[in-house]
Amino acid sequence: MAKIYPKMFFDGAIVEDKAAALSITSSAVLYGLSVYTVFPAFSDKDGNLAAFRLAEHLKRLKNSAKIMGLGNLVESWNTEDLTLAVKKLVNANAIEEDIFVRASLHVDERLPGMRSRGLNTNFSMFAYSADPILPPSGARLKTSVWRRVPDSSIPARAKVNGAYANSVLAKQEALDNGYDDCVFLDSDGHVCELSAANIFLVRDNRLITPSLTSDLLEGINRQTVIELAKTEDLKVEERQIDLTELYIADEAFAVGTSAFLAPILEIDARTVGDGKIGPLTKKLGKLHKKALKGEEPRYSDWVTVLK
Ligand code: PMP
Repeated sequence: MAKIYPKMFFDGAIVEDKAAALSITSSAVLYGLSVYTVFPAFSDKDGNLAAFRLAEHLKRLKNSAKIMGLGNLVESWNTEDLTLAVKKLVNANAIEEDIFVRASLHVDERLPGMRSRGLNTNFSMFAYSADPILPPSGARLKTSVWRRVPDSSIPARAKVNGAYANSVLAKQEALDNGYDDCVFLDSDGHVCELSAANIFLVRDNRLITPSLTSDLLEGINRQTVIELAKTEDLKVEERQIDLTELYIADEAFAVGTSAFLAPILEIDARTVGDGKIGPLTKKLGKLHKKALKGEEPRYSDWVTVLK
């Protein structure tokens, strides 16, 4: 279990864990009507905590709120406002280890029925230790019997809490069958993503990932890997992927805030490539790690030091 820091940012103030509570009458609790993001803050080369791609996380949170029709205080926030709030959270807890921060916008209106517009919202954040959700040594995946929620039902593009029941079903089914995580397929059987990470495969030195119209979350680390690959002159294809193409990939990996960049070594009892971590996965994994910690001068503007 990750260590959860006890002081939380809740409705504009720092409060103790127990005071950061939502009513059982709220839409957040009743319908999962909340949107969120999770970003890392890792110690950089000078030993200071630095948050990764805050501007992109704020933008995605606003986009999720917009899709769901939620108005909110964060609407008017810029990256500096978010940075200030994150600093308050980190200082209140005197955090000195690598962490993840979960930032949520909850609809805390009491029993409003099936509505989203014009309701009270509450912006909150808490920090917890940055434990990876996939084994860094290589993950084993199972195609889920559950299909990904399509954009026409609950958009995976909007990071809405209620939609994560779909991820829970799929991840639990994978765990029940002895795997580390699932591969979600869309309604037509094309590859989408894992329960909480995006997916890449490598074929003949080309990097291939499902396109943004494949019912997936617009992952910030997915975009990061694409940008890193381009600066390394690697070819990147964003397109539909058949499940069988995944079976015959030379390499495959998952990427996301909580997954880091995790090699995938087995899918549905088929070995990926030669069953070892491939060269491009290794290379991108190293670059990604450096970028996250602000150790790569080319991407230093991706991190915000929280001093
Ligand atoms: N897909 C899903 C469904 C997720 O929950 C996550 C984790 N936020 C990701 C992909 C990866 O997104 P990111 O790189 O922004 O963490």
